[in-house]
Amino acid sequence: MKTAYALAFCSLSSLSHAELIINGQPVSVANPSDSTSNSNSYQTCWQNLAPAALSAGISLENYQRYTQTLQADPNVLKHLNSQPEFKTPIWDYLAGLVDDERIRDGQVMWTQHADLLSRIEQHYGVPAAVVLAVWGVETNYGQIVGKHDLLQSLGTLSCAGRRQAFFRSEWFAAMRLLQRGDVQPEQLKGSWAGAFGQTQFMPNTYERLAVDFDGDDRRDLVSSTADALASTANFLKRSGWQTGQPWGFEVRLPETMSLQGQGRIQRRPLQYFIDQGITRTDGRALLDVTLNPNTSAALIAPAGRNGPIFLLLPNFHVIYRYNAAESYSLAIAYLADRIQGQAAWQTPWPTDDAGTSRAERREIQQLLLQRGYDIGSVDGLIGSKTRAAIEQEQRRLGQKPTGRAGQHTLNLLRNAQ
Ligand code: CA
Repeated sequence: MKTAYALAFCSLSSLSHAELIINGQPVSVANPSDSTSNSNSYQTCWQNLAPAALSAGISLENYQRYTQTLQADPNVLKHLNSQPEFKTPIWDYLAGLVDDERIRDGQVMWTQHADLLSRIEQHYGVPAAVVLAVWGVETNYGQIVGKHDLLQSLGTLSCAGRRQAFFRSEWFAAMRLLQRGDVQPEQLKGSWAGAFGQTQFMPNTYERLAVDFDGDDRRDLVSSTADALASTANFLKRSGWQTGQPWGFEVRLPETMSLQGQGRIQRRPLQYFIDQGITRTDGRALLDVTLNPNTSAALIAPAGRNGPIFLLLPNFHVIYRYNAAESYSLAIAYLADRIQGQAAWQTPWPTDDAGTSRAERREIQQLLLQRGYDIGSVDGLIGSKTRAAIEQEQRRLGQKPTGRAGQHTLNLLRNAQ
């Protein structure tokens, strides 16, 4: 969730080597994979952090237990610089996250958990479809929760890299969750940055906002779907969710209206946009029973004037608090609408090479495998091996080597011998 992506806003220069700070002194570790010197440095750093852990509410006995046999994982440091939302065209990002498969799976989950979701909706005032969309985007409905051992990755980031104070606080929060018995050590698996559980809470957020919704007195966002989904609704409610209001709409601008001075944080009363002549693409009125002329609104055009344009209402900003990226928030908003049966956006993205669904990405990978490329397993996730194989294939067929898994690549592979 949000903290993992908020990192992308910091200007982080490339980490060519791990930077270890011990007692405030930077220690350069020339080769992060040199496990001997490295593990000693981390162990020293962790020992020096013991007083801070005690002040953070962790018992000495537990701190020693959590760190004694802990191994650092310097590989997590490279992630500090790479955040996919900001490097991928928005149409690629959305095509993979809001595809037919994820919409259908969301509807199936809604049927399966209908009673739970309706109790959550009643209790928190957050629509089932929005909770489902967060669940679907974060972990594909609990199926992909991340593989990093949290104590290991957060322990590493607590002693190396550029945001040690932040990660240290999350590391200690993870320990407090263990200490309290909310989760067991083997459940603490998640993203490299420490988000974990079915809807990817950071440990501090977990501590603050997780709820027990299945009544067993434990807040278990890893194994309990009820706890995970209710906690997500609780997060959104506490972030200001306006019950009954939509997140926003796809809109059309009048020819004469400029986009200058518009943006997510340029909020104005809804009436201003009505006066400008903005209309909803689905033909319905901007002002409906859930909104009034003073409702705060903002206009974004993620791909410029020739792509889809959206009028954002307060609930969009609530979703944004889950993960501070416009593309992420649009994915949640759009997936929620589609799960509820609303139509696709009407304006196409301004590209002649649209993004691919996960099914199409798996087909690209299958075709690459058939051509003998070692791309690992067919999982629909376009990683460095798949990208390199696409580039090679594009070169071989006289195309510009972009490595992108778009519709052109799919058609190229389908047609080429
Ligand atoms: Ca529980």
